[in-house]
Amino acid sequence: MTYLEYITSHKWRTSAARLGELAASGHRCRTCYASPGDDVRLEVHHRTYERLGHELIGDLTTLCCYCHHVITDAHRRRRYALIRPNPVDTAPLFERTAPLFDPSMGFQRHERY
Ligand SMILES: [Zn+2]
Repeated sequence: MTYLEYITSHKWRTSAARLGELAASGHRCRTCYASPGDDVRLEVHHRTYERLGHELIGDLTTLCCYCHHVITDAHRRRRYALIRPNPVDTAPLFERTAPLFDPSMGFQRHERY
């Protein structure tokens, strides 16, 4: 079962850990305290995937969809920041033989409007 299949499955939706975390959080976002009454969707974030499919309540955190997006983005940025880019992916496609601008034109200041 893939992650997507699991996260959209009945098993995940009815997981004792997931439902337990929702109840323990009072059905509110652990970050901003929003609830479905505030017109937000609650989601249950995996703090770890160590026990994916057999989560413990402590593996999970109730977040609203907005805080979930922010936290997931921050985790991904931190994780990808540690990856060194492959030089093949960052090398220029063509050897640059001429400057990007004509140095005889000097520095031209953009006018403010
Ligand atoms: Zn939130």
